[in-house]
Amino acid sequence: MQTAHSLDVLRNSIGKLRSGSNTIGLVPTMGALHEGHLTLIRRAREACDHVVASIFVNPTQFGPNEDLDAYPRQMEEDAAMLQSEGCALLWAPGVEVMYPGGPENFVTSISVRGVSEGLCGASRPGHFDGVATVVNKLFNQVQPDMAFFGEKDFQQLAVIRAMARDLDLTLPHVLSIIGVPTVREPDGLAMSSRNRYLSPTDRDAAATLPRAMKEAIARIEDGQDPSPTLAALEDELLGAGFSSVDYAVLADSASLAPLNRLSGNAARLLVAARIGGTRLIDNMAVAG
Ligand code: AMP
Repeated sequence: MQTAHSLDVLRNSIGKLRSGSNTIGLVPTMGALHEGHLTLIRRAREACDHVVASIFVNPTQFGPNEDLDAYPRQMEEDAAMLQSEGCALLWAPGVEVMYPGGPENFVTSISVRGVSEGLCGASRPGHFDGVATVVNKLFNQVQPDMAFFGEKDFQQLAVIRAMARDLDLTLPHVLSIIGVPTVREPDGLAMSSRNRYLSPTDRDAAATLPRAMKEAIARIEDGQDPSPTLAALEDELLGAGFSSVDYAVLADSASLAPLNRLSGNAARLLVAARIGGTRLIDNMAVAG
């Protein structure tokens, strides 16, 4: 596996990988890799000739009071994992490569209206502008045929799909955005780089989140009114040791518009809640 830290080295390596009509799959990450990320890599390997993984902790998607400085960084360990998964190239730009002159002097921003506005967009202002802009840069830099994103970040996936459609990123290569189902711990907790912040007690309590979500989904699919069901879900989380619930919303899977009741279209239950200072998100399909 090659590692590129500069655009020159990246372009050179991509040119070589692309020789002939080889296809390239891109897996963007912020590092601190776990089995969820590695599942994306494996999926990309199945679908493409070569896999490029990026590791970049993007400062512009963190709010002023968020965990940018504390975010786990373990480049050597991550590189070893990527290598053993058969990744061809690791793209690991520094902040000065992505934002010459610093993020504060970067004057372009991609904003995706609609799908980015509720849910995490409401509790993390500017977050999805930072995500859309950096992912667009990664697409331009790597020019992949396919890019792989986890359903774990369901709203992020919707934002990127909308951006790719609106900005014709499907040209000149046919850029396909592939969503990959959430990989979970044995007790159901969605894998996340942030899970390592949890104390052992909070880690145990965190498993209440997927369990309570499944119970709420069963009730909603059974015909119970979503509103009191979601209120009971919030109460259960608070009772289990979560300090607050940013949202617990039933939404249309495509538009992410909140639903008061099932409409026959695909629906999703999405939750963000805090425990011991860590913000956890999860989402699951609800049969319409
Ligand atoms: P991150 O490093 O957290 O920015 O995540 C990089 C990519 O991995 C994103 O597309 C995430 O949605 C995806 N991802 C993170 N956790 C999981 C998981 N548990 N299952 C599947 N994909 C995941």
